[in-house]
Amino acid sequence: MARQKKPNLDSVTTINVDGSHFSPQPADVKGPFTSLRRWFGLILLVVYVALPWIQINGYPALFFDLAHRRFHLFGLTFLAQDLWLAFFVIAGLGLGLFYVTSLFGRLWCGWACPYTVFLEHIYRRIERWIDGDAAARRQLQKAPWTRSKLVKRVVKHSLFILVALVIANVFLSYFVSLSSLYEYVKRPPLENAKAFGVVMFLTLCLYFCFAWFREQFCIIMCPYGRIQSALTDENTMVIGYDGRRGEPRGKDRKGENSEAGDCVSCQRCVQVCPTGIDIRNGLQMECIGCAACVDACDAIMHRLKRPKGLIRYDSLEGLNGGKTRYLRPRVMVYTVALVVGFLAMIYLLSGLHSVFADVNRMNGQPYYVTDEGVRNQYQIRLMTKLNQATTFTIEVVDAPEGLVLSGFDQSITLEAQSEAVRPFLAMISKDQYTGQFELKLSIKSTPGDDELIKTVRFLGPSAYLLREKGVKEAGGKQTK
Ligand code: SF4
Ligand code: SF4
Repeated sequence: MARQKKPNLDSVTTINVDGSHFSPQPADVKGPFTSLRRWFGLILLVVYVALPWIQINGYPALFFDLAHRRFHLFGLTFLAQDLWLAFFVIAGLGLGLFYVTSLFGRLWCGWACPYTVFLEHIYRRIERWIDGDAAARRQLQKAPWTRSKLVKRVVKHSLFILVALVIANVFLSYFVSLSSLYEYVKRPPLENAKAFGVVMFLTLCLYFCFAWFREQFCIIMCPYGRIQSALTDENTMVIGYDGRRGEPRGKDRKGENSEAGDCVSCQRCVQVCPTGIDIRNGLQMECIGCAACVDACDAIMHRLKRPKGLIRYDSLEGLNGGKTRYLRPRVMVYTVALVVGFLAMIYLLSGLHSVFADVNRMNGQPYYVTDEGVRNQYQIRLMTKLNQATTFTIEVVDAPEGLVLSGFDQSITLEAQSEAVRPFLAMISKDQYTGQFELKLSIKSTPGDDELIKTVRFLGPSAYLLREKGVKEAGGKQTK
């Protein structure tokens, strides 16, 4: 199959010219970036798995509790009513990514994206362990089906499926509690068909992506990969080849041919690239910024006793001999937006309570007028986000003299993570009624010592109409 060699606008390097998938077999590489990336990847793997196990304020550090429509984030609990706050969190994460991208290019992709972390630090490792190095893998790919190849393929794909199953369960643990997950795993699949179906679907998707689709996900499907060209410019830090120093490339050594550049066309940078590109052709959208080519080329330069950095982290401006400008309009705009958004988020989060309360008018007529006076009907809705029983103490803090509340519980205890709705009536006699007013309630909760002040309007007719013209004229009913 003819390979696409040079980047162009109509194709990508991992798709052959006939449209078939070219699966790169990256060679092993050693070097400071590779080691650092490996350690960073391992730490991230531990973090991904551990987050649902770490308890903060009685909840997992990161838990999207779908069953109770709650979201727990490092000790903070968000109810569906707090969803608007998610705007700040999502916008903040998005802006943060824009910021990092405008300064450092695809740092996220090569170093921290879970997809890359799983692919590079688990799946490719399994592959190397079973099939051998890049040359052995390529050879095995072309080899006819023998017993040994069959065994290797069966073992490798069984491990791929097993890891996909583990990742799918870890993913599920972000959405259901660990005890529920344990129950799902323990019981026959059909008893929890929905959860079982989700895990199986995820396992298949993960297996497909990591066993076959691989780098194509980053190139074809990832939306972040698609917008990054709009976020970067000539001064963004990327991994690039210093053509001024490397060209003209060739096998000639310096001294023997003073015209020759530092690149000796050894192809190591191409061989180690997980997306199969040749970085010497310039910055390409397939590059995930993994720095494998930096380590590979530095090793060659070290062996040739030439300065390192023929391929390096630098801006396009720097690679062309200019000076990188870190402070530029887009970076300043992102910085301001990020700081403002961050401060707004801190301010809003500081007002987040461990309980929720709301007082609303009940459906039906806004008010009732009778011989006794004017009556409004309300309902109070209480919710606790705490993982323990919570007692609410409710008091009227501001209301006119003579207002009588009935059906009103001053103390209500709710079970952990539960809610309750209680109706109550507010009544004021005709003589004491002077017109519509605000009814202010203080709702305190224990534990947590939160206090919420809720104000609701007491509605009624004009006091003059009620007193001078009577109940009927004021829109009410005569009662015995
Ligand atoms: S690894 Fe360095 S020397 Fe070898 S081909 Fe790539 S750029 Fe040239
Ligand atoms: S070109 Fe270099 S940094 Fe980019 S993906 Fe390939 S090896 Fe990684």
